[in-house]
Amino acid sequence: MWIVFIGPPGAGKGTQCSRLADSLGVPHLSTGDMLRDTERDSPLGKVVASYIDVGRLAPDYLVMPIVTNRLAESDCQAGCLFDGFPRTVHQAELLSEFLMQRQRRIDAVLHLQVDPEVLLGRLLKRAVLQNRKDDNEETISARLEVYRTQTAPVLQYYRGQGNVLEIDGDQSADLVFHDILTGLESRK
Ligand code: ADP
Repeated sequence: MWIVFIGPPGAGKGTQCSRLADSLGVPHLSTGDMLRDTERDSPLGKVVASYIDVGRLAPDYLVMPIVTNRLAESDCQAGCLFDGFPRTVHQAELLSEFLMQRQRRIDAVLHLQVDPEVLLGRLLKRAVLQNRKDDNEETISARLEVYRTQTAPVLQYYRGQGNVLEIDGDQSADLVFHDILTGLESRK
């Protein structure tokens, strides 16, 4: 199973992705987590932080090797769930090419839809709970704008391939997860 989660910041991608990873037994690959895992004081970490901390996307030359190195590991050979990747049409094209070379393709794209006002509230709440440097009002609006301009077009890219499932993310986490399982089941 190769599945992509797409949704704005705060849509619940991380929560749903880890539940689905447990349920399907495939790895959960979060590029946000992987980028945040780079040592903040290292030269690479400083470059990464200079993007994340202001809500901009890290450049592809940093993101792509992190993703492809992870995909080369043995636990990813039967599939994985992408959380926060691809975030641009270019990343989506690079991913398709990578998978095609290995006779694989994305099976489903889960689009988590949530109202913008709900998102802001969720992200500000998370700021208190997780102490993430990019969960302040100014950076959040930059991230929402990046989503609108750079990531939303990725949906169009996948719609062209006919594999996007629309999920109402403005429900309880249990109901969202239920809809995800039902949606995936209906595609079998
Ligand atoms: P959220 O979905 O709430 O924005 P993430 O943890 O997915 O949180 O991402 C946090 C930040 O990490 C992004 O704002 C961006 O700076 C960086 N990032 C994550 N994934 C990517 C990616 N695929 N390409 C570029 N930058 C990324």
